[in-house]
Amino acid sequence: MPCDTCAELGDRKYAYRKGGRPEDDIDFPPAAAKLRPFGRGHDHRECPTCGDLFHYDSTHDYFVNGDEDDETLTRLGPDQAAEVRAKAAP
Ligand SMILES: [Zn+2]
Repeated sequence: MPCDTCAELGDRKYAYRKGGRPEDDIDFPPAAAKLRPFGRGHDHRECPTCGDLFHYDSTHDYFVNGDEDDETLTRLGPDQAAEVRAKAAP
């Protein structure tokens, strides 16, 4: 069960920013900022309260009328999380 810190993130959250069109932006909920980086890469975040792991994915596209940034946070299931932790272990 998600804890109070990360419940807001649900199973998946999506953020979107387009240059020059701030009115269309979609931001992560504030809970996303509370996650801390996990492991050596930049692909995973950990909830500091319950330890749930999230996969973080971002893309950046260049367009003539403004760049687009897409970010996705996906909560990992127990099996996926165990796999990520096993790989991150020293
Ligand atoms: Zn949590």
